[in-house]
Amino acid sequence: MTPDEFRQAGHQLIDWIADYRRQIESRPVKAQVKPGEVAAALPAEPPAGLATIDDLLADLDRVVVPGAFLAQHPMHYGWFPSNASLASVLGDIASSGLGTFGISWESCPALTEVEEVVVDWLRQLTGLSDAWHGTIHDTASTACLVALLAARERATDHSQARGGLSTHGSAPVVYATAQSHSSVRKAALLAGYGSDHLRIVADVPVTRALDVADLRRAMAADVAAGRTPAAVVATVGTTGTTAVDPITEVVAAAAEHGAWVHVDAAMAGSAMLLEEYRPLWEGVEGADSLSWNPHKWMGTILDTSLFFVRDVQHLVRVMSTNPSYLQSNADGEVVQYRDWGIPLGRRFRALKLWFHLRLDGVDAIRDRIRRDLANANWLEEQVTAAPDWELVAPVTLQTVCVRHRPAGVTGDALEAHTAAWCDAVNDSGRAYVTRSQLDGSWMVRVSIGVEQTERHHVEALWELMQQAAAKTAAP
Ligand SMILES: *Cc1c(COP(=O)(O)O)cnc(C)c1O
Repeated sequence: MTPDEFRQAGHQLIDWIADYRRQIESRPVKAQVKPGEVAAALPAEPPAGLATIDDLLADLDRVVVPGAFLAQHPMHYGWFPSNASLASVLGDIASSGLGTFGISWESCPALTEVEEVVVDWLRQLTGLSDAWHGTIHDTASTACLVALLAARERATDHSQARGGLSTHGSAPVVYATAQSHSSVRKAALLAGYGSDHLRIVADVPVTRALDVADLRRAMAADVAAGRTPAAVVATVGTTGTTAVDPITEVVAAAAEHGAWVHVDAAMAGSAMLLEEYRPLWEGVEGADSLSWNPHKWMGTILDTSLFFVRDVQHLVRVMSTNPSYLQSNADGEVVQYRDWGIPLGRRFRALKLWFHLRLDGVDAIRDRIRRDLANANWLEEQVTAAPDWELVAPVTLQTVCVRHRPAGVTGDALEAHTAAWCDAVNDSGRAYVTRSQLDGSWMVRVSIGVEQTERHHVEALWELMQQAAAKTAAP
């Protein structure tokens, strides 16, 4: 494809995207396909001959859109908002169009330095001190793995430079609650701690926050048994109910054992753009690493996960490799992001953030997040006031966890009722909410925060929930 052919096809594609976004509300939120249906709509053999851009746009309409869950739909209240602001889409296109690759500062100085500056803007916008230095990872899962690798090496005096964990005398231990994200467990296992050395600390009833007294007990018991408390993963805004672990107290408890504290604020980080929400992560300056995802609520398209550390030297010591072909005269003066994480090559991800912040503007992003928080408060009020409805957890951010409990419906019948009305909402195609278990019992999470979701959409959802619950409760 020549640049001129690209220009023409590109205009068509941009038009297609703009139309798709403008008309998104007329489509079902949930993909109405069965397993295998998308694959069956494509030829099994590799394509021979040439297609035009028109052919491909027709295939997008015919195969891809019907097989897509519409995360940008204003009636999507499932899992979490995965916003893809169009301003950030333009940045993503710029990144691909430039076609640069980052394997060292020298391989694209702009890629490294724009990332340094833009990530530092986000540090300032969320009120963090300049003791933090950040980078962009693909996901919060990767950030957690990197944090636990750094913690492991600190706790074992860099055992990787000797015989590794297996020859280190004292087993390092990771602590988190059952409310923490599944990626914490995955990271602990991948980092070699072993599931016997992942402690599930109790969480407090109602708030679901980490129970610091239990953390202290668990750490003391491990020390008494000859193990080393290596890392605590504290969550600000858990996936299930947006619970907030007490960072100040966690940091104090961890400090007594020299344990690393990683703060997982994947979802809630976006709220830290608002000064009035920063008390939620009070004490964060005492942590060792922290991550959050602009690719969730804030709306810089995937994959944009921020990872900040305080001790860059330690991180680089754990992560660096320096083969001869990557060495240059600029070494020592510049940041080499390959030494801050796992991959060697990196995309120019900072452009997505840059375009998003510059074209949409920080004020508009903050206003939108405030709007979503107000919408969640509104729904909380409706649920609280409605007979037979209950809040299952306090509303700390934009997620409202509910149950419909008609008189006389308990036990298995209540479980079945919750599943039934949730499925009825989702199968209608008009909205999507997530079913989730808390203490072994089903509830429904309404996660508000899609860029296009206005108050009237939340009102429509509440109507739909009440209708679905009334219908499925009827004998
Ligand atoms: C979404 C989420 C994650 C995982 O995020 P990825 O970027 O998809 O890996 C981790 N922790 C919390 C609290 C989350 O909400």
